[in-house]
Amino acid sequence: MLEILTGETNKTLREKSVSVAKIDSSIKKLIKEMVKSMGSENGVGLAAPQVGSNIRVIIARLNPGEGNEIIVAMVNPEIASCSEEKEAGEEGCLSLPGMWGQVVRSREIIVRFTSQKGQDQTLKMEALNARIVQHEIDHLDGVLFVDKATGIHEKKMEIDDLQI
Ligand SMILES: [Zn+2]
Repeated sequence: MLEILTGETNKTLREKSVSVAKIDSSIKKLIKEMVKSMGSENGVGLAAPQVGSNIRVIIARLNPGEGNEIIVAMVNPEIASCSEEKEAGEEGCLSLPGMWGQVVRSREIIVRFTSQKGQDQTLKMEALNARIVQHEIDHLDGVLFVDKATGIHEKKMEIDDLQI
């Protein structure tokens, strides 16, 4: 199991990650391992720098807890557009265990990325799904949710808490 890096000042978490030039077997293996780590921690998203690789790869568990829940891996994800409408929501992060806060994010986004099969894809998403992907892309730029959050507080993890 990959170790998840923690801490607001961790150097790897604060670094800007580089684009992936080629999706080779090492990238596919990393994605597989990230899915395992996210699952074992009840996370809904994970970015490669959180497991020690400063490359632009994220995974997101979309529609968490719903019948159509799906884990999507995104290589070189980019937000192509985001709605002016924003909403605040509670966030936690696997790299900042026990910390929570309110973060204002765009309600809808269009994200472009390359799938692990090498296909260019565009997805429109809203609400929690859009929040998860915005949080993960921030990780690729060395940004943590506490940089943007208000009302930061500590709280023990509860069973239905979703960490991004
Ligand atoms: Zn996070």
